[in-house]
Amino acid sequence: MKIEEYGLEKLADPLLGWFKEHARVLPWREDATPYRVWVSEIMLQQTRVEAVKPYFERFIKALPDIKSLAFCSEEQLLKLWEGLGYYNRVRNMQAAAKTVMEEYGGRLPAYYDKLLKLKGIGRYTAGAIASIAYGIPVPAVDGNVLRVISRAAADGRDIMKQSVRANMEKQLAGIIPKDNAGSFNQALMELGATVCLPNGEPKCTQCPWKDLCIAKRDGLIGSIPVKSKSAKRRIENRTVFLICDGDRVLLRKRPERGLLAGMYEFPNEEGYFSQKEAVLYAKKYQLLPLKVERLTDAKHIFSHVEWHMRGYLIRVEALEDGEKRLLFAGASDFKEKYPMPSAFAAYAECLNIFLGKKREPV
Ligand code: SF4
Repeated sequence: MKIEEYGLEKLADPLLGWFKEHARVLPWREDATPYRVWVSEIMLQQTRVEAVKPYFERFIKALPDIKSLAFCSEEQLLKLWEGLGYYNRVRNMQAAAKTVMEEYGGRLPAYYDKLLKLKGIGRYTAGAIASIAYGIPVPAVDGNVLRVISRAAADGRDIMKQSVRANMEKQLAGIIPKDNAGSFNQALMELGATVCLPNGEPKCTQCPWKDLCIAKRDGLIGSIPVKSKSAKRRIENRTVFLICDGDRVLLRKRPERGLLAGMYEFPNEEGYFSQKEAVLYAKKYQLLPLKVERLTDAKHIFSHVEWHMRGYLIRVEALEDGEKRLLFAGASDFKEKYPMPSAFAAYAECLNIFLGKKREPV
């Protein structure tokens, strides 16, 4: 059934009643300023609530307002984001913060259309900030909302289609309570995150819509939502080199553009290197390999590519003034400096270096 035939208006009251009782206490809900809502919503894209909490606290402590975000160094910014992935999200936030400083006196605009023009803010995030922080009655449709509404109405259209999302936004705009827009949007997201789960059985007995939901009534939960498959990821074989002189390890900075731009990494190359080739590789840096050890293989999944990694630990002695030319870092340097993507976490741990959420709070 299409959602317009179903009539979404009957869902609002039970949903809001349920949310009043079951809303989780979350750090960004305690003081829902536009800036805090913005930071949390960007962090929550692709990342679970529990994983985001420590990142959010640390980020807000280090960069408490839009001004501090606009003017912090790239290294600090990436370090605060280390482990969350999708680093362009935080770069875009900084670009948007600069625009907000220049054009809006440091305050996020209280208009959906103006929010939408800021870098990195799409329809969902603009809707979330506008409704939660400013009480503006606009929808905020994410994957959770698409799923719960499709199930309630047993709408079998493909939720990956832009036209389906646009239609859902239109229908929700017609029923969103004018005086409670923020709670309504958060309640929809909350229902999707805690009851009508994306993976595994939904908890229908706890659902405020258990008597209204057509997918439940007709046994369609397993087939709705309909979601077309995204393109298959490319697989890339890589060799990662942990080149250690004493207790310090060789790092290099990635290019300023492209995947993981501006982050630090252990030297690595496409393809699988043999032990002999690994020794020659270290010599290229004018380093004298003393011992080579093959490490356990590791895998990291990005949105469009998978890295299947082979690793070597190569103990070296620096020749001549090699140490001065190259960047060798000790474990303590990783606490505040040298943002490193979690793609390398498995190899960093071989050196007792913990990245992202596993590192000690700074
Ligand atoms: S009744 Fe079940 S399937 Fe329907 S919206 Fe609620 S949790 Fe989801």
